[in-house]
Amino acid sequence: MAHRYAIKEIFRTLQGEGGLAGTPMVFVRFAGCNLWSGREEDRASARCDFCDTDFIGGERLTAQEIAGRVIALAGPAWVCFTGGEPALQLDRALLLEVRGHGYKVAIETNGTLGLDTLRPLIDWLCMSPKTPDLVVRSGEELKLIYRGQEPAAIRAFEVLGFQQFFLQPEWGPRYDELLAGALQFLQEQPRWRLSLQVHKLLGLP
Ligand code: SF4
Repeated sequence: MAHRYAIKEIFRTLQGEGGLAGTPMVFVRFAGCNLWSGREEDRASARCDFCDTDFIGGERLTAQEIAGRVIALAGPAWVCFTGGEPALQLDRALLLEVRGHGYKVAIETNGTLGLDTLRPLIDWLCMSPKTPDLVVRSGEELKLIYRGQEPAAIRAFEVLGFQQFFLQPEWGPRYDELLAGALQFLQEQPRWRLSLQVHKLLGLP
């Protein structure tokens, strides 16, 4: 019987964040994360306690069914695997299926699970670190959610082998304050750039 992946949702929008912001993409959101159960009652004890994504539930789909849903959302050249944590489920079979239809592949990962064997099949790796125990050490983009960290703590990530470094103010009631703090940090160093969640500013999914 064909392997099935736990998929929360598949939808088309513009990538709103980081180095590919503004690029039309189909997002495949996996259910489940290794840093939080997704249940509010577990948030206080979670290794990542500031998540704003619903990644519980959804459907169980085969690689062919996922590719079919992606193709039905005709238009974008990119597919972005996100979550939850996509590295829990993403495998060679699904990547080959999607790439076989001509799509470029991006992934948004928290960096705590290895992706080395899949790396040749991923065109754009974005890591958004949430904990110190990172096993992903390189990629196209490191995107740090800014929650008021000290400049030295932000710059500590520069030892990692990413091509681009983004600072993204956390969305929420402190947004204006955090945006101001991020802008101040960005004025004082050469490597980091601002990531805004353009899809939220535009009211897109
Ligand atoms: S790692 Fe990402 S998906 Fe998982 S709980 Fe944190 S923000 Fe949410």
